[in-house]
Amino acid sequence: MNNDIQYLTQKLEEIQKQLSHKELIVDNILESTLAGYWDWHIPDNYEYLSPTFKKMFGYEDDEMPNAPESWQKIIYPEDLNTLFMLYEKHVESKGVFPFDMEARYFHKDGSTVWVYCRGKVVEWDENGSPLRMVGSHIDITQLKRSEEIEKYARQLELKNKELEQFAYVTSHDLQEPLRTINSFTQLLEEQYKDKLDESANKFLFYLSQASNRMSTLIKDLLDYSRIGVNKEKNIVDCNALIRLVQEDFEPKINEIGATLIIEDLPLIHGYETDLRLLFQNILSNALKFRKKDNPLIIRVSAIQEDKFWKFAFQDNGIGISPNHKERIFTIFQRLHTQSDYEGTGIGLAHCKKIIDLHGGTIWVQSELNMGSIFYFTIPL
Ligand code: ADP
Repeated sequence: MNNDIQYLTQKLEEIQKQLSHKELIVDNILESTLAGYWDWHIPDNYEYLSPTFKKMFGYEDDEMPNAPESWQKIIYPEDLNTLFMLYEKHVESKGVFPFDMEARYFHKDGSTVWVYCRGKVVEWDENGSPLRMVGSHIDITQLKRSEEIEKYARQLELKNKELEQFAYVTSHDLQEPLRTINSFTQLLEEQYKDKLDESANKFLFYLSQASNRMSTLIKDLLDYSRIGVNKEKNIVDCNALIRLVQEDFEPKINEIGATLIIEDLPLIHGYETDLRLLFQNILSNALKFRKKDNPLIIRVSAIQEDKFWKFAFQDNGIGISPNHKERIFTIFQRLHTQSDYEGTGIGLAHCKKIIDLHGGTIWVQSELNMGSIFYFTIPL
C-alpha cells in the first residue's frame, strides 16, 4: 500500500514536472511568435485570455477581464457576426467544420489589428453540447498591409499601362488631322499671302504657329508614351552617347557661345534610345533656360555612390525656385509662358519616366538665379 502511494506520488511529480516544462515551452512560443491564446469554459462563460492575446490589442493583463465580452467589445461588428456564424456551423458539425477566419479588431490606440483566429471545441457533454473551446490568435496586420500595398501597386501599374496606351492612341490618331491642318495652312500662306490683307495674314501666322506647337506637343506625347516599350537593356557608353547629343546641339551651342565641360562618364546598363532622350532633354533645358547676360557653362559628370551611378548636369542659368522642385517633373507643368521660353512641359516628365524605368531617382538642386544641378541615379 505504502509502496503504491510512493509510486503514485513519484509519478505525479513526474507529470507535474512535464507539465510545467510544456507550459514553459508554450509560454516561449507565445512570446516569440507574439501569438495569443484563449480557453473558453462555455457553461460558466469564463474565458482565459493569455497576456499576449491582450497585448496584441494594446492592453495589459489586468486591463482586460477574462471573459468573452472583452474581445467582443473590440472586434469589428461585422466580423463578430461572421465569427458567431462560424461557431454555430462548427458546433452543428460536431467540430468538423473549421473555426478559423481573419478578423479585424480595434487596438486601444484606435488602429486596426488584423488577426488570424483559429479555434476548436475540445470537450462536449453527453448530449453533444460544447463545454470547452480553445484557440489561438496571430497578428497578421503587417502581412495585410503589405498585401494591400501590393494590390494597390498592381492596380496602379495597370492604370498606368492603360493611360500610356490611351496617350499613345490619342497622340497617334491626332497626328493625321493635324498634318492636314498644317499642310493647308502652309498652302494658304504660300499661295494667298499677297491676296490677303494684313489682319488675315496675321491670323494665318497665329494659326500656323499654333498648329506647329501642337505638332511638337503630340510628338513629345507620343515619345513619352513609347518609353521602354518592347525594348531591351544594353551596355551603354555614356561618353559616346553624350557626344552624339552634343553634336545634335552643336549649332545652338556655337550660336550662344556656351561652354560644355564633359567629365569621364561610365558604361551603364540601360535603354540606349531612352537614355539619349534623357541627355537631350536635360541639355536642351540647360541651353534654353540660360541667363541672357551671362556666358553659359554646362558641366556633365558622374560618380559612383553605393550601388548607383550618380549623374550631375550643372548649369549657371536662371535657376528654379525650391518651391517648384517637385512640380517640374510632372507632365505639362511649366514655370514660364510660351513667349518667355518655348516648350511643351513634357521634357522633365519624360526624364522622370526614363529614370523610373531604370530603377533610379531624379531630382534638382537649384535656387532662383543661381543655376541648377539636375541629378539622377542609375543602378550599377
Ligand atoms: P519645357 O522645357 O518644355 O518647359 P520641361 O518639363 O523640360 O518642360 O521643364 C519643366 C520646367 O522646368 C521648365 O518650364 C522650366 O521652368 C524648368 N526647368 C527645366 N530645366 C531647367 C533649367 N536647366 N534651368 C531652369 N529651369 C528649368
